[in-house]
Amino acid sequence: MTIRFEQEAAQDAATCPVCDAPIPDMRQALVENHHGQLLAFDRQECLKDFLEDPERYLLALDEEEE
Ligand SMILES: [Zn+2]
Repeated sequence: MTIRFEQEAAQDAATCPVCDAPIPDMRQALVENHHGQLLAFDRQECLKDFLEDPERYLLALDEEEE
């Protein structure tokens, strides 16, 4: 049961690229399609910050993936 939960969490896992807060429920997240890349934000304020300077947050994401 624990393993199953972790697998589901991994599939749906998302963190806000602005404040790094985990987003437990994508249905409640603010989703932005940024040139085909779907990004989820926990709050309107975070989405606003991202839109003001997208590259700053996208660079941080790239570093995490590599
Ligand atoms: Zn956030």
